[in-house]
Amino acid sequence: MTLKNIILLGATGSIGKSTLNLIRQKREKFNLIGVSAYKNTEQLKLISDEFNVKNVCFFKNDKDIIFNNSTKVMRGHDGLLELAALNCDIVVSGISGLAGLMPAYTAINNGNNIAIANKEPLVVAGNILIECSKKNNVKILPVDSEHNSIFQCFDSNFRENISHITLTASGGPFLNRPLNNFKNITIEEALKHPKWEMGKKISIDSATLINKALEVIEAGFLFELKSNEINVVIHPESIIHGLVHYKDGSVLANLALPDMISPLSVAIGYPERYNLDLPKLNLVEVSQLNFLKPDLEKFPGLNFGWNALNGPNYVSIILNAANEIAVDLFLRKRINFTSIVEIIDKCLNDQNFNPAHDLDEILEIDKVSRIFAKKISEKFYV
Ligand code: MG
Repeated sequence: MTLKNIILLGATGSIGKSTLNLIRQKREKFNLIGVSAYKNTEQLKLISDEFNVKNVCFFKNDKDIIFNNSTKVMRGHDGLLELAALNCDIVVSGISGLAGLMPAYTAINNGNNIAIANKEPLVVAGNILIECSKKNNVKILPVDSEHNSIFQCFDSNFRENISHITLTASGGPFLNRPLNNFKNITIEEALKHPKWEMGKKISIDSATLINKALEVIEAGFLFELKSNEINVVIHPESIIHGLVHYKDGSVLANLALPDMISPLSVAIGYPERYNLDLPKLNLVEVSQLNFLKPDLEKFPGLNFGWNALNGPNYVSIILNAANEIAVDLFLRKRINFTSIVEIIDKCLNDQNFNPAHDLDEILEIDKVSRIFAKKISEKFYV
């Protein structure tokens, strides 16, 4: 049996750790040929030793870790692109934020299938990545649980039979908190997601529901859907992750316990399914599944997703940039929780660009938007 050669970008982050757990469970299936991390070289060395990885890349080596002679060491942005371009069966992209864009594009442009776990590249450059994947006959396999669910239920060979899709949202930690109490939300409260354990940025995005707005955009690009073909419902149990509604009234839904290992396994293993040692979904134990309409007064940020799909492509670039800046400021206790959405709203209303045609133009709009967002944010400092 041939092993699947994998390159894991962002190996020390939350997605990276889950991917390594999956590889540990299925060692007979995978050959990890490359890993990257930003600066946790100590961990990177442990990973490269454990999995006998031949290519590593990092940006900073604060602890002057020395890698084995047989390991090729790459550095910085160019090194990361070199790693992403190496011939392999699949690149797993778990780099958080926009930093994952160029590596993802490079992987696709070099003919590597990609399991994409970071939504930002698809949000800001979805049309370019999808076009590039078609040109290179490359598969973009979504790891984000909702899109992974849609991917499993979406019969793209008979696209004309599909009416629309529904993405579910847990509602985050503030589903039942009254709006008049939102201003006092602390970082600790916002980071405490009821169902998923995730990185800090995405946890805050889940608390504002901007994560779901970004997912609406992500779904729009991945499945080539219009804004009115994407529904969102609150589903606090997080058992159903996505549903595909067919024109004949039939609805296919994907159910799974909230754990990243399953969607990762579907994406990395595709089209193979692995027998994993995981807790099994017990419907009697779950007993009830609830669904609610999202409260857009409490979570106005959710609207940004549909608005972005309806507007020129720079809208999602501004949204993503302003959100990253605002979330970072919230995490550094410079602004209130409610200011995150207010800052984004202001950035969206007060900026105009020409639509971006390539990655350079996207990165330029992103750069200008970030500077703008930082300036605007000063007015919201506490
Ligand atoms: Mg998700």
